[in-house]
Amino acid sequence: MEKTLVILKPSCVQKALIGEVISRFEKKGLQLIGMKMMQLDDDILNVHYAHLKDEPFFDCLKQSMKATPVVVQCWQGYDAALVVRKMIGVTNGREAEAGTVRGDYSLSSQQNIVHASDSTASAEEELKRFFKKEEIFDYNQTNAPFLYSKEELL
Ligand code: UDP
Ligand code: MG
Repeated sequence: MEKTLVILKPSCVQKALIGEVISRFEKKGLQLIGMKMMQLDDDILNVHYAHLKDEPFFDCLKQSMKATPVVVQCWQGYDAALVVRKMIGVTNGREAEAGTVRGDYSLSSQQNIVHASDSTASAEEELKRFFKKEEIFDYNQTNAPFLYSKEELL
């Protein structure tokens, strides 16, 4: 089972969509194994968005991520990173498919409601950035036999 990081951004918090977005992942069958509210700062954002440091929108992006506390989550499931990325849609909310989180709730390439890790490898790194070991929980998902085939559960 893979784990992935989701951050409900200030645009999600201010549009009162926290419950809505969590509900989508829950209904899909993903298992929530970590969640907390936190205030991001430059130290963590400089690392988290290091791949964008030379972009003209970098400072603006950091401001937008510091505007309110965010909600960070760890979701678990088969191919969790892939599944969540499909569910959130492409970066720009104006281009994201209807039915995705960004396609349904964002009109912006920056105020796009959620962050999600783009691969299992980056999820591993990002989860360490936002969670202490003891903040990620290991518990039985009792409906797993109805979410996955026997082969998938092996
Ligand atoms: N971003 C932006 N302007 C752009 C592209 C990206 O402000 O033209 C912001 C946006 O909030 C995005 C974040 O930078 O979610 C990270 O960019 P990335 O390319 O990693 O997109 P994501 O993985 O979030 O889809
Ligand atoms: Mg990204």
